[in-house]
Amino acid sequence: MDMNIAVIRGDGIGPEIVNEAIKVVNKVCEKYNHNINYTDVLMGGASIDVHGTSLTDEAIATCKASDAVLMGSIGGDPNTSPWYKIDPKDRPEAGLLKIRKALNLFANLRPAVLFPQLADACPLKKEMADKGFDMLIMRELTGGLYFGERKTIEENGEKKAIDSLTYSESEIRRIAIKAFEVARARRSKVISVDKANVLDSSRLWRAVTNEVAKDYPDVTLEHMLVDNCAMQLVKDPTQFDVILTENMFGDILSDEASMVTGSIGMLASASMNDTKFGLYEPSHGSAPDIAGLNIANPLATILSAAMMLRFSFDLGKEADDIEAAINKVLDEGYRTGDIYVDGLKKVTCSEMGDLVAERI
Ligand code: NAD
Repeated sequence: MDMNIAVIRGDGIGPEIVNEAIKVVNKVCEKYNHNINYTDVLMGGASIDVHGTSLTDEAIATCKASDAVLMGSIGGDPNTSPWYKIDPKDRPEAGLLKIRKALNLFANLRPAVLFPQLADACPLKKEMADKGFDMLIMRELTGGLYFGERKTIEENGEKKAIDSLTYSESEIRRIAIKAFEVARARRSKVISVDKANVLDSSRLWRAVTNEVAKDYPDVTLEHMLVDNCAMQLVKDPTQFDVILTENMFGDILSDEASMVTGSIGMLASASMNDTKFGLYEPSHGSAPDIAGLNIANPLATILSAAMMLRFSFDLGKEADDIEAAINKVLDEGYRTGDIYVDGLKKVTCSEMGDLVAERI
């Protein structure tokens, strides 16, 4: 297969972790005889330094012309970096919102997996952590409260702020279809999370999700209120396979789920449109505090690259190979500093990439 991949190395630890992901992707593609063409794209602080803005139209065009985008992470320390002293529309995070919009990336997939080898990092009770868990949060990314009309008005002598939460049937349908499709390739269970006891948008969400479910008789659908879901995530995360939810609930629940794993350096993510196109990046930020030290954990980025092979290129076997290699490296006791515990073998970012690539 021929693949055209746009690569955003980004800022901070971004270039280091992307190097390791590319090392592993190259190894698996060599094994299965795939051809990859990488095109570097500037975004975030790296783009501000050259173009004065975090994302140019040319950069967007390059991403659009590719089959998928592999990204590290962007941004610097907001307290000290000059990237935060320029017009807000040109700052690093503005580029992130711009690329999601330009590429119509409405579906955010965030797996939260507790690797049994890292159970000690899980803040839950040992009986629960020992069971391990593997869920995926499907968050709607371009609608709802964050994109609705907002204003602050003056009424009866005081200020009043208004944010609107809107969803159309088509916006709900397309993300629900993504959730059911992904669930089919996993354990075939979708839990749709809403606040249907209060919100009209949630009642429509529930109705449309029920309709979509009729096309997926092999997948179980349950509904859960968001407050209950927040509790269940810490009570028993093993009950979840795919969680389907709107933008703001997904923002909060995906961070909660990742904290429950206890290992931010292990969490991948994908943002997709209604084709196979996606942008793949780790869930963590650019970690400016450890940039350039070759100590970052590259596994979240390597797992994001595995998601890219699985979802954008239908290369499930290749993705399985990468995940198996990571499991093997963890079984053998290799750890970067963030997941290291006494008695195991501490390795650098590039050594971790080498170890995974060698086991493919
Ligand atoms: P962060 O995730 O970068 O760092 C939080 C802590 O986790 C730090 O101590 C860091 O050293 C550690 N950490 C993160 N990833 C790690 C890894 N792979 N290996 C080892 N340790 C790791 O969050 P932050 O400090 O709040 O943000 C730093 C910058 O990243 C900010 O500019 C922020 O806006 C940006 N950011 C970007 C994205 C993105 O590009 N999608 C996402 C989140 C934050």
